[in-house]
Amino acid sequence: MKAIVVEKANKVILKEVPIPNPDKGYARIKVSACAICATDLELIGGNIPANYPIIPGHEWSGVVDAVSDDSYSDWLEKPVTGSNDISCLTCDECKRGNIRYCKSFEEIGFRRNGAYAEYLTVPVHNLVEIPEGISFEEAALSEPLAVAIGVLEKAQARLGETLLIFGAGSIGLCILVVAKAMGLNKITVCASSQNRLDIAKKMGAFRTLASNNTNIIEEMKKIHPDGTDIVCDATGMEECIVNGIKLTRKGGRLLLAGYSRGKSMNIRIDDIHVNNIKVIGAGNNWNVHKKAVALMESHAVDISMLITERIQLHQYEYGLELARTRPFGFVKAVFVL
Ligand SMILES: [Zn+2]
Ligand SMILES: [Zn+2]
Repeated sequence: MKAIVVEKANKVILKEVPIPNPDKGYARIKVSACAICATDLELIGGNIPANYPIIPGHEWSGVVDAVSDDSYSDWLEKPVTGSNDISCLTCDECKRGNIRYCKSFEEIGFRRNGAYAEYLTVPVHNLVEIPEGISFEEAALSEPLAVAIGVLEKAQARLGETLLIFGAGSIGLCILVVAKAMGLNKITVCASSQNRLDIAKKMGAFRTLASNNTNIIEEMKKIHPDGTDIVCDATGMEECIVNGIKLTRKGGRLLLAGYSRGKSMNIRIDDIHVNNIKVIGAGNNWNVHKKAVALMESHAVDISMLITERIQLHQYEYGLELARTRPFGFVKAVFVL
């Protein structure tokens, strides 16, 4: 099969590799769509741990093509997406339900081969059937949508609460649509790209703020005068997190949902301490793919606007370049097979 392989950091090639066979408890998926994620660029750049050579791709959908044994044969031919989490399911953390804290945890697309390929294998228990009416391309985006659900669940977000989102990349925009579906109020999105802010507006943001030419603190005082109930950073940038602390209302929650690439930051701890702000690390979200697909099925969210480029495997250099340079009008590129 054709696959895009990261042979080592910064060395990506398209090559022929053997079609994988499903191990016990696994299904083989014939890939229909796989989105390029900014995290894939970190994997390619050697900024996050990976087992090279590795096939990236964790935002995928496809059709079940083979299963390890007959007990799973009901899955054959079904359109699916699913979770990328692989853990032992027997250790204490797994038994507590914390499958991403498992010492042997591995993620498809990072430490296990992903879906920048014609086929991938996935544990059967990770699969979620794609209901009628949802395209493969949209189903592939159940992954960032699932992350957004996990983030807002960690915030214990409730109907009517106010929300400020820093960042209008796919995670920021997915947080926006999930928050809308959950009934959050006056959801404001702050980002540097006017084009992304226009998309945020179309996806239902109450207000959008351009971070490069606005006094965010002053503007937010007009929108959420007592501070914001929940501030969610999806950028990992110091400036946003520092502002986020200042803008969270007393006793409110600040969610950290962006990668900071190992950087340290200059934070005034008293702003957190005196104002009783709950700072919540929002990485590692599990058991959320099914909810993401249910949200799409009920038409509570529409994420089709995130897909701005459809490409084939052989156009991977172009796709990665788009993800890297984010030209005007671009949000996400999806491999369509
Ligand atoms: Zn992703
Ligand atoms: Zn475990």
